[in-house]
Amino acid sequence: MKQPFKQKNDHAPSFTEPSQDIPVVETADLLVAGAGPAGVMAAIAAARRGVRVRLIEAQGALGGIWTVGCLPHLIEANKGGLLDELLDRLQRAGAGERETVAERPYPVDYDVETFKIVLEKMAAEAGVAVRLYTRVSAVYRDQTGRLETLVTDSKSGREAWRAGLFIDCTGDGDLAAQAGCGFDIGEPETGRCQPMSMMALLAGAVRRDQLPFSLHGGKARKEWILTQLRRGGHDPSYSQPTLFLVRDGYLIMMANHQYGYREPDAQVLTDATIAGRSENLAIVNALRRLGGPWEHLELMTQSAFIGVRESRRIHGLYRVTQDDLACGARFDDAVCRVSFCVDIHALDPARNKGIDPAGIKVKPYDIPLRALIARDAPNLMMAGRCISGDFKAHSSYRVTGDAAALGEAAGIAAASALHQGLDPGKLPFAAVKDELVRLP
Ligand SMILES: Cc1cc2nc3c(=O)[nH]c(=O)nc-3n(C[C@H](O)[C@H](O)[C@H](O)COP(=O)(O)OP(=O)(O)OC[C@H]3O[C@@H](n4cnc5c(N)ncnc54)[C@H](O)[C@@H]3O)c2cc1C
Repeated sequence: MKQPFKQKNDHAPSFTEPSQDIPVVETADLLVAGAGPAGVMAAIAAARRGVRVRLIEAQGALGGIWTVGCLPHLIEANKGGLLDELLDRLQRAGAGERETVAERPYPVDYDVETFKIVLEKMAAEAGVAVRLYTRVSAVYRDQTGRLETLVTDSKSGREAWRAGLFIDCTGDGDLAAQAGCGFDIGEPETGRCQPMSMMALLAGAVRRDQLPFSLHGGKARKEWILTQLRRGGHDPSYSQPTLFLVRDGYLIMMANHQYGYREPDAQVLTDATIAGRSENLAIVNALRRLGGPWEHLELMTQSAFIGVRESRRIHGLYRVTQDDLACGARFDDAVCRVSFCVDIHALDPARNKGIDPAGIKVKPYDIPLRALIARDAPNLMMAGRCISGDFKAHSSYRVTGDAAALGEAAGIAAASALHQGLDPGKLPFAAVKDELVRLP
């Protein structure tokens, strides 16, 4: 039988790449890697404070999971600040229907294409220098251990970029890991990570009034969808399949689980992407077989990348822990208050294909600025899902509303640190407290 190609093998032959001179494209004040909810907010917040910001993104749009990731469904969107402004602008641009969520000031599901353009406008107005289609692939320190030069790969070849301060918003903590910073990943006992999911956008005749569940209902809605899928002849790999209605005829679907992620690995991501994409088509076909409102359902598009729920958690000056969630921790340097539950998607499909029991009841807890400051590099911060925290805490604060608020906080603190000529870890919190306090 043909053996699968193995990427990592200690005995594999190696190749020494010849050294080369790489052009330095520019020297910015602040370099933000990754333009998902955290990165885009960090860049805009800093640029509005007079900092020269370069934002580097691997995909072809701003927004990360919100846009190219086909998941414009915001949890914890009540953070105020830049997020509030973004939601206002999305609404004015016609990206979401305000009346869809009577009990909240804003809808939480938005049209992806409008979302991209609104983010691009906000970044341009703030003066953020954006580079898309460019992946951060190496980071070099100066002789004192400070991060100095970042190397990227793109259609322009290898390029170098310099900055005084860096923020890792890659979700996976790529920049920090490349810089040699310490990190944790996965469940401490086993190293297993939560499963990935391939997000999809569906189009068709389905209207809100044809669905027997509220738009923001919980378990009952998922059970109903599971029953429909089984009736249509497909038993999904995720036992709590979810549909969100952006507007009549426009749905977001999260209905599959791809297991086996333990660390960033391109082959694992490739295999999961191919399997998830194919399963989504099978799911749409199963729904179509039901007829009625589902008859003309279309698989409109799928995410440009498989959705990775968890990856590296970079060591910071503070680590948010499950105890903080359980006791509702308060900190003098709090930058965000999180209320979301511990949401661990099943680690072992042989036991469970839904959500694993959390064993913790979350009391709204604070995230301190120290969890956004790297322990192992003086001029590096993190925002979004790669901040410093433990396995269970991460599964609560990882949602996009919190990632965006953490990004904004990191951008504000970075700007203040740069203006004062200090490393973020030396910044007196009093200097930024008035701007950073956001505890809804
Ligand atoms: C399947 C799934 C369903 C989820 N459901 C919800 C939900 O319903 N609501 C919710 O609020 N949250 C949800 N989450 C959680 C949430 O999406 C993430 O935790 C959130 O995206 C974190 O934001 P971020 O900015 O840290 O990371 P990301 O959104 O992952 O953004 C990281 C960005 O960095 C870029 N990048 C990565 N590596 C590099 C590199 N080396 N160089 C340059 N750029 C790079 C990526 O392309 C991406 O744009 C879900 C997550 C998944 C995976």
